[in-house]
Amino acid sequence: MEAAADAVDREAQHLTDLDSAIGDADHGTNMRRGFTAVREGLATDPPGTPGAVLLLSGRLLVSKVGGASGPLYGTMLRRVGKALGDEAEVDGERLAAALRTGVEAVSRLGGAAEGDKTMLDALYPAVTAMEDAVRDGDDPAAALAAARTAAGEGSRATIPLQARKGRASYLGERSIGHEDPGAASSALLVAALAEAVDSGG
Ligand code: ADP
Ligand code: MG
Repeated sequence: MEAAADAVDREAQHLTDLDSAIGDADHGTNMRRGFTAVREGLATDPPGTPGAVLLLSGRLLVSKVGGASGPLYGTMLRRVGKALGDEAEVDGERLAAALRTGVEAVSRLGGAAEGDKTMLDALYPAVTAMEDAVRDGDDPAAALAAARTAAGEGSRATIPLQARKGRASYLGERSIGHEDPGAASSALLVAALAEAVDSGG
């Protein structure tokens, strides 16, 4: 979560720029507000397990972020945290399955599917790539590296799509030709997770 908060700090302006093209220019601000609260909350009251870290982080995102992305990401993290349970350590298979549960919860909550030009266009390919890599025997770091690549490709692939969900959908065909801000932030979060696991923390 620290790597995610750092990445959000670094890329906040870029996320807001993407949202200014097809939204209301607040995605970077929303993400930063949420992840700053997460950073502070985890420092104040450090949870003892990965699952508890994600439950607290998700709760903070839901309560601190006004935009659509707060409840969506918050729900995702809470569902992943719940799926991880009380385990002190999590292997690749367990993490991939938990992430799948979290991404499906985003889809249910927002009523969006792959191809609607949302964060799901980065999240679904990431989870599928991770599952495939784990099934092929990759360790978690390698599986998350594959997820990171897939999330980045998925985000860039939103450029030619027309938005069917969220604020960008109000633009109709004018949403075509721009990368979805939520897909870009999802790619950022997957990259942060991959980096954190790759560096052993
Ligand atoms: P808001 O749209 O309320 O201003 P943000 O700008 O923080 O909130 O987040 C916008 C992003 O949220 C979009 O780029 C999109 O990826 C994501 N999003 C919006 N609505 C949905 C939805 N129904 N399902 C999945 N993701 C969504
Ligand atoms: Mg916005």
